[in-house]
Amino acid sequence: VKAISIIVVGGGIAGLVAARALALKGFAVTLLERKSAIVDEGGIGIGLQSCVDAGVPVETLFVYAPSGELLGTRPAERHGGSHWPGFTGISRSRLHLILVAAATEAGVTLLTDAELVAARSDGAGAEVVLGDGRRLTCDLLIGAEGIYSRLRGQLFPEHIRARPTGEAVWRALVPGVQKQEVSFIFGGGLGTIGYTPLQGDTYLYIVDKAEHAPPRDATDLAPRMAKLLEPYGAFVPELVARMSHAPGDVTYRKLETMMLPAPWHKGRILLIGDAAHAGPPTLAQGAAMGIEDGVVLAQVLAESDDLESAFGAFMRRRYHRVRAIVDASLAIAHAQMDPGGQALVRDAQAAAASVLSEPF
Ligand SMILES: Cc1cc2nc3c(=O)[nH]c(=O)nc-3n(C[C@H](O)[C@H](O)[C@H](O)COP(=O)(O)OP(=O)(O)OC[C@H]3O[C@@H](n4cnc5c(N)ncnc54)[C@H](O)[C@@H]3O)c2cc1C
Repeated sequence: VKAISIIVVGGGIAGLVAARALALKGFAVTLLERKSAIVDEGGIGIGLQSCVDAGVPVETLFVYAPSGELLGTRPAERHGGSHWPGFTGISRSRLHLILVAAATEAGVTLLTDAELVAARSDGAGAEVVLGDGRRLTCDLLIGAEGIYSRLRGQLFPEHIRARPTGEAVWRALVPGVQKQEVSFIFGGGLGTIGYTPLQGDTYLYIVDKAEHAPPRDATDLAPRMAKLLEPYGAFVPELVARMSHAPGDVTYRKLETMMLPAPWHKGRILLIGDAAHAGPPTLAQGAAMGIEDGVVLAQVLAESDDLESAFGAFMRRRYHRVRAIVDASLAIAHAQMDPGGQALVRDAQAAAASVLSEPF
């Protein structure tokens, strides 16, 4: 496919990576973001398999009992013989700065305050309507607007809603505490407690049943999270004592899942990232799948003779891999809530590792 114009909607991880990858293949790319700046929205930290310079490469995972007893360690697995560490903790705001700079450097036009409110597509192209009434046209429209994608609702109304997994995540920034490893506690009254090291800081989280939800407008999330963690040993007392209480540094979010059946395109519109697939974060692979979507999309568009064959090649390379990771993430999420579920967790982790070791 040659010389087409592409609009990517959404300045999240998936949209920014896709925009850069497409621009590097020579396509004219415009990215639309509804916010007034392309920044992360309070996710605190993330685990990836790259970004070593701006992150903390992790070699070992520690597992503790709620009392604090060390139950065991395992290496952070390097999938498919990769030379990258199996896990790198990075601040989401730093990752966003890197991705925005990378998209800009590749020649992507970034438009902020640009919210897509409607889109139309026929065999020849697509038209986007923005909230302020502007209309933009392109040859190909990529929806990367996250799990609540408006384009998904418009294209596939039967899949408009994401499904609650029954769990929720508490996330807290612990400033000034530097860790080099990842640790988890399973069991006790809560689901999973863990931390991810960031450069100079730590990101502490609880993944738990959604039934312990704070009131909708609660402004005291930090003391609520600290209270839930009171009975725990190991790394918990140190991190809770130094947890930030600043607004925005502690967040609570119910987890939802979405798996759009194939194909993820209609007319000249294709969905990628969480807009098409999102599992619970039990494998730390959601963003990784969105990143792969963008890279593969750029490759198939550059290598195919027409858009239909590019879409076909894209779905052949993406659907089964992503589906397997979403399914394994869900299986782990449910097994972790079950006190006897550790064997199921290991089985699902092994299934995911086997998929991830295959080239994408
Ligand atoms: C608690 C938690 C922990 C996680 N941990 C990990 C991890 O360790 N590793 C990992 O790989 N993944 C992890 N994930 C998953 C990962 O965060 C997501 O898969 C990823 O951020 C999704 O990126 P995205 O670009 O598809 O969507 P989003 O990040 O949702 O970005 C969508 C963007 O589109 C914009 N937008 C939305 N609607 C419009 C519109 N109409 N017009 C214009 N712009 C619009 C939004 O403002 C936003 O900027 C985790 C997820 C959660 C919830």
